Amino acid sequence: VTERPEAGELVCALDIGGTKIAGALVDGGGAVVTGTRRPTPAAEPGESVAAALDQVVDELAASPDWSRVRAVGIGSAGPVDAVKGLVHPVNIPGWRGFPLVERVSGHPAVDGVPVVLAGDGVAMAAAEHWRGAARGHANALCMVVSTGVGGGLVLGGSVYAGPSGNAGHIGHTSVDLDGDPCACGGRGCLETIASGTAIARHALRGGWQPADGDASAAAVGRAALAGDPVALAAYDRAARALAAGIAATAALIEIEVAVIGGGVAQSGDLIFAPLRRWLTSYATLPFTRTLAVKPAVLGTDAGVVGAAAIALQALGLPLNPPA
Ligand SMILES: [Zn+2]
Repeated sequence: VTERPEAGELVCALDIGGTKIAGALVDGGGAVVTGTRRPTPAAEPGESVAAALDQVVDELAASPDWSRVRAVGIGSAGPVDAVKGLVHPVNIPGWRGFPLVERVSGHPAVDGVPVVLAGDGVAMAAAEHWRGAARGHANALCMVVSTGVGGGLVLGGSVYAGPSGNAGHIGHTSVDLDGDPCACGGRGCLETIASGTAIARHALRGGWQPADGDASAAAVGRAALAGDPVALAAYDRAARALAAGIAATAALIEIEVAVIGGGVAQSGDLIFAPLRRWLTSYATLPFTRTLAVKPAVLGTDAGVVGAAAIALQALGLPLNPPA
């Protein structure tokens, strides 16, 4: 007999990033029942960001489904301190040691409902493992490659958050000993080469001329598809760095699959083709050679679906298969 949550129980899931705060009510099969989002006023004082978060919870609490909420799951831009319930998101300067769990627990509608916090990379991995491209894999690395590079791990069949909720921070592992300084204080981090920001910076350094002043990674991608050699080289370098990071992870913990989402992954073969090619140069040990690289499937819902998964897992509730 499979134990299931009582029919209709929901998780309030919150996904907090540097550009948006998303909230949703998610059911035990990982389906989003209702959702809302608003921009993160990341450049404003911390209290303004907290007020935007309160408004997201207000909106969800106004739903007739709110009475079925049994837990709150939060995936936040990191680093996080899941033990103390604090967050220090690099891209939200007003939040340094912000008591996120206390703030959400103190919302009048939340009153007594357990609140569970993890990093957004961990949440994304939980989502892809539950409903996405890592489904059915016991050991996986899931990554978001966009303005930054985030990640999370699935080990032995479950998401591994680590003691403080930050495990899988692959974007801040170094793949270039003498590389550029990183915002984290390190040097040559994967994020300094493979993020969308880094791709655009590298293309500009190499002499790429953006049309219409659009110097985004997507614009570099369009130039690459049109055959611009500098733009192609920027994507190839990002792919090579990703391959090195993924191969290192495979050697350390024997992953079967690496799942990649985020804006840079949406460029498709432009990143995946050189990545798979470079992987043959870096993932060379016999137990790493069969590693598959797949695009993520959940898109913008990954954050809230993953936050719900983390809350269910922390409370010992089953994650039902998708309906
Ligand atoms: Zn770094």
